Amino acid sequence: MNSSYAQVIVDVPTQQTNQPYTYAIPTDLLDLVQVGMRVKVPFGKRDLMGFVVDLTDQKPADNVQIKAIQSVMDLVPVLNAELLALSAQLAQDVFAFRISVLKTILPNALSATYQYLIQLQPTFRLNDDSQFLQALDQQVVQLTDFTSRQRRLISTLHQQGQLTVEMLIQDRLGVKTQRAYQITADDDLLVQAQQQLRANAHQQAQLLAFARQNLGQVFTQKELVEMTDLSSATLRAGVSKEWLQVLAVEKLRRPLETLNPDREANLTLNDQQKQAFEQIITAHQSHTYQPFLLEGITGSGKTEVYLQAAQQVVQDGRTVLFLVPEIALTPQMIRRVSARFGPSVAVLHSGLSEGERYDEWRRIQRGDVKVVVGARSAVFAPLTNIGLIIVDEEHEVSYQQQDNPRYNARQVALWRGEYHQAPVILGSATPSLESRARAQKGLYQLLMLTKRAGDAHLPTVQVVDMRESLAGSQETNFSPELKQKIIERLQAHQQVVLLLNRRGFSSFVMCRDCGYVPRDPNCNLAMTLHLDSHCLKCHYCGYQTAIPHRCPQCQSNRIRYYGTGTEKVAMELEKILPEARVIRLDQDTTRKKGSLAKALQDFGQQKADILLGTQMVAKGLDFPNVTLVGVLNADTALGLPDFHASERTFQLLTQVSGRAGRGQTAGEVVVQTFNPEHYAITFAQKHDYEGFYRYEMRLRQIGQYPPYYYTIQIQTSDLDENVVAVHTAQITRWLKSQLNRDVIILGPSPQPIAKLKKRYYFQILLKFKKPHENDELLQDLIQRAQQIKGNFQVNIVRNPLTFM
Ligand code: ADP
Ligand code: ZN
Repeated sequence: MNSSYAQVIVDVPTQQTNQPYTYAIPTDLLDLVQVGMRVKVPFGKRDLMGFVVDLTDQKPADNVQIKAIQSVMDLVPVLNAELLALSAQLAQDVFAFRISVLKTILPNALSATYQYLIQLQPTFRLNDDSQFLQALDQQVVQLTDFTSRQRRLISTLHQQGQLTVEMLIQDRLGVKTQRAYQITADDDLLVQAQQQLRANAHQQAQLLAFARQNLGQVFTQKELVEMTDLSSATLRAGVSKEWLQVLAVEKLRRPLETLNPDREANLTLNDQQKQAFEQIITAHQSHTYQPFLLEGITGSGKTEVYLQAAQQVVQDGRTVLFLVPEIALTPQMIRRVSARFGPSVAVLHSGLSEGERYDEWRRIQRGDVKVVVGARSAVFAPLTNIGLIIVDEEHEVSYQQQDNPRYNARQVALWRGEYHQAPVILGSATPSLESRARAQKGLYQLLMLTKRAGDAHLPTVQVVDMRESLAGSQETNFSPELKQKIIERLQAHQQVVLLLNRRGFSSFVMCRDCGYVPRDPNCNLAMTLHLDSHCLKCHYCGYQTAIPHRCPQCQSNRIRYYGTGTEKVAMELEKILPEARVIRLDQDTTRKKGSLAKALQDFGQQKADILLGTQMVAKGLDFPNVTLVGVLNADTALGLPDFHASERTFQLLTQVSGRAGRGQTAGEVVVQTFNPEHYAITFAQKHDYEGFYRYEMRLRQIGQYPPYYYTIQIQTSDLDENVVAVHTAQITRWLKSQLNRDVIILGPSPQPIAKLKKRYYFQILLKFKKPHENDELLQDLIQRAQQIKGNFQVNIVRNPLTFM
């Protein structure tokens, strides 16, 4: 028996509409509408996309007017029962709208875009302003196609009845064809072209060489550009000379790294690995939800445990969700997983195009996939029958989404583990204090790997005091100790990793005479120097301006850059060690798709001596020939206004030290710092996570911070600084009158970055003992804040991990 009403969450992210609406199911759709499908519904004066979250025969109260569903957008549900339940729970937990959570769970490609069909009416009068409309009669358009002036005109003409506008709702990606090229099969033609080519036509020569190696093959334009680095002008020339032919193909969009991996055999687990493995498998085989904290030093073989446990689970007919931080989802890691599981792996990361992501999602949805490897948002992969969830580097801040909905993938992973009654492995060499404390209490089961796998040993760590090292000498990024050790490695043909810690730190311009620092007028932040494009840029809003030659404040010409970036360090390296071959790895050099993979591959093949980079070099890389790791500036994060500062510093130093000495030869680490006595540095020097944990826990207890307390951050913002200050003070007074007396209220205070994208930000921090004790009150606060007119906004962040 089909139900006659559907509960629908409509695509309007506001507090007032954050509830299911009842729609009637018309007779012709009765057998088509299912829970978890997208539908098109009338809402107010508009038509919108909505998600069916429930079906019912219950007729709503007589006095409500029920509208009917217009059409169904899916043939099969895009959300299953589990993901629907998760969306409801998560919306509550992270104080987000249900619709926002639903859209986050699904790939972008399934978020409808709204398109319009414009039809001119007989009353339409052509004039200069409306000329552009003539070509659009009967055409499908998007609002973004128009200037705001044109939009106003359309709206006026619509009101006057000169044209009609009908809304169409479509998937962002329907059937997608891509531009592609087929290389000619005629080798003679190419040989002839080679002979006649002008000597300076390098790009065309390159294209011809590539073409001759791939006769008759088809490549999408994107692939061709990635593989050859040729300009589109060269490709056009190739087409006009008939070396290539243009095609439109529908190509299976698969991430390149997963194709044709070499198969790899399992290693024999050592005793500690075997013990961990067995406990995990016992939980899996008895269908028990059990979180494990796998605390294993760097190089102890955690990944081998994950992979073998995953294999067992797949063998037993269940599926595996494997999460790694974006930054550690290197081609190395993807290859390792693909090598064990072959084509039954799906990969989800931010480097994929929307289409690739959608195609991987559909493979999972269809049940073609046994193992999903991915970064944060992969936690929503539509796997069914999950038998194991792995969260590698569980301490990583990047598991927390920084925008709404502010979910934490580690939290979601635990929720899904419980739903499927499956074990969840949280793995790290430096667990978050929160997880380690839970293991202490027995909420998670602690599994320890205390030795490096194989024959490798942990590296020795030398701390260099930069205050002494730099006294009296000129500015440099290299202490004599570090420089000497790099030279030794170069002579021995071993490799070096250098870390430049950029968190909370950047190269900026400062006047040496008066201290003036150029700031961006929107955000009031010091702007970052970009040497390649010769400008100053704000990394938050993108504002950019020229580099000043004279100080605008005191006219001195001693205004120059301060601090350091990888580019500047690379330049210094070239000066002091001209023979060293250096690969630079940072956001600028890895923006282009495939460039990170290429850089790491080159380094692995020892085409370079030194890998210089930001946080990116700290995670997950496994190069046996690296015997020296240098940390150029260990303490730039210690000064951040955040109680996690020590924890983050300790984690980063430990992680990057872990890159040294992974092969036969012993490794060494040099840490340069201005705070050599800081406990985060001394514990990292001794590889003493447990010592750090106990020390830091005492400080957290004294300071009444997590994990002893739960925290909620209330973020307020407005375009007007006074308005936000006044409202935030009011909210604070209201909270004080409503909250239990043992809830600690900090603030209100301007946020460390007080002004961002023209908005002013304040924050209030709540600390309390029971995880959900204030949820109702906070929901109430959100309701009340909605009543405030103007631009004022309130955001509630549970367990904030950063305070910038
Ligand atoms: P982690 O993830 O803990 O940093 P990995 O799993 O990357 O450690 O292992 C580090 C190195 O040790 C890798 O090169 C891996 O191949 C090797 N390894 C792991 N387990 C074993 C084992 N049981 N026997 C020999 N080598 C191992
Ligand atoms: Zn000055």
